[in-house]
Amino acid sequence: MSSLRTVVVVGGGTAGCTVAGSLAMDENISVVLLEAGADLGNGQDRDFFQVLKNKDDSISHLQVSLTETSSTANYLQAKGLGGGSAINAMVSLPGHADGYNEWAREFGCTEWAWASVAQAFDGLPLALHRPNDDELGIMGAALLECIPQAQRSPLAWHNGRQSAAMFLDQDSRKGALEVRLNATVSRVVIKDGKAVGVELSEGNIIPADLVVLCGGALVTPQILWASDIARPAIGSGLQDHPAVMLGTVLNAPAADGFVVTAHAFIEIDGVADAGQIMAYNYVGDTSRTLGGLGVALTHVWSRGKISTDGSDVKIQFNMLSDQRDRQAFRSLVRQAAKLVATGGLSKLGLDWTCDDKATPCGVLLEMQDNELDSWLMSNLGHQSHPVGTCRMGEFEDALAVVSHRGQVHGTSGLWVADASVFPKIPRANTNLPVTMLASRIAGFILDFCRS
Ligand SMILES: Cc1cc2nc3c(=O)[nH]c(=O)nc-3n(C[C@H](O)[C@H](O)[C@H](O)COP(=O)(O)OP(=O)(O)OC[C@H]3O[C@@H](n4cnc5c(N)ncnc54)[C@H](O)[C@@H]3O)c2cc1C
Repeated sequence: MSSLRTVVVVGGGTAGCTVAGSLAMDENISVVLLEAGADLGNGQDRDFFQVLKNKDDSISHLQVSLTETSSTANYLQAKGLGGGSAINAMVSLPGHADGYNEWAREFGCTEWAWASVAQAFDGLPLALHRPNDDELGIMGAALLECIPQAQRSPLAWHNGRQSAAMFLDQDSRKGALEVRLNATVSRVVIKDGKAVGVELSEGNIIPADLVVLCGGALVTPQILWASDIARPAIGSGLQDHPAVMLGTVLNAPAADGFVVTAHAFIEIDGVADAGQIMAYNYVGDTSRTLGGLGVALTHVWSRGKISTDGSDVKIQFNMLSDQRDRQAFRSLVRQAAKLVATGGLSKLGLDWTCDDKATPCGVLLEMQDNELDSWLMSNLGHQSHPVGTCRMGEFEDALAVVSHRGQVHGTSGLWVADASVFPKIPRANTNLPVTMLASRIAGFILDFCRS
């Protein structure tokens, strides 16, 4: 690399902090990280519902439709330095190898096959914590006892929450790094087909040699539209993990501690890790007497979209619109209901219910497919794992927005490195996969700068 390059990173969330910190390791790069929110800090609170309450002014409440027929509902996203990693439940899993091999097989993203990403996961400078016996809580311990493949969940916790902001504090940094908080980017400035800077909402222009978008899967498409980038697929391909909660009233209030401490992946119809059951020691109620199982479909076929008519933005997930998802989710929910109604978890002496009318979970086992589908549609939730709205693929692929290395097709100097570019949602919670992806795209950007 001959001269100093200025890279502007838009969004200081999980991906943005990882990219900015990684690029700033190079002495020839000067990074400006622009984050719309405040510094969310790291914090010692293990209870993620408490973190959400404490940081309520640092959360975006978006309105979305989860299914094709549902009315809009509140959908949480982080706003502040560290992004999702500063407020989430800290569960840190890579996702099943087959999921990444699908990226390679179905979307031609051969550099993202498991053999390559496994190395990248191993290289991340994270110290994860597996809850010890005293930290497991009632639900965590019960799940481990009742499901043979259940595991203690690795958590992004090491003497406190490990937010992605830790990537900004590396001692061996050689390049310059400036972090600007409360800086909302409205668009990328494009000149002759090249990104040359960004415009802040108050009108200031910040010049750049390269711009990396990391606003998250629900914001990055909006910045691309505002910048007059004309790839028709921007906003399509939206995914999250559909989820429902089976709840129970505990015999005693849950102790302070980690909310989620154990999980089990479930194979469905021959697809490995197609479902996930997470043990919630507490679900955020003030009395701390409600626990539950979060039951989520992790291998997902349905696709939604984020769209705009030029003024309003519409976010539609279209969850369970693909009949393969309905079939798999029915199977998963029946397995979970059996576990609490007649299986191992029924022996805890607790009453398990499946909705806010306190309907016993056993009722789910008596439902025909169409009845269970209706129940799923009315009780459906999500995991705040939006991905896929600017997916990777070849230039000729009409549904791709960025190259396999994160470069926006048709515009030079412009990259996307956040959850938007996943072609298919990983079969696990998304924070660790986003960290891996952002760290690899930072490496590709460095290769580009050095070439
Ligand atoms: C409540 C909650 C719980 C979760 N629990 C888990 C979990 O336990 N385990 C797990 O693996 N995953 C979890 N996740 C998901 C995980 O945190 C996300 O997948 C991850 O944070 C996505 O990273 P990202 O960088 O794409 O987006 P984000 O981390 O959301 O970062 C986007 C950043 O961009 C900023 N921004 C947005 N617009 C602009 C703009 N115009 N200008 C400047 N900055 C902007 C935002 O303020 C934000 O800081 C959870 C998410 C939430 C919200």
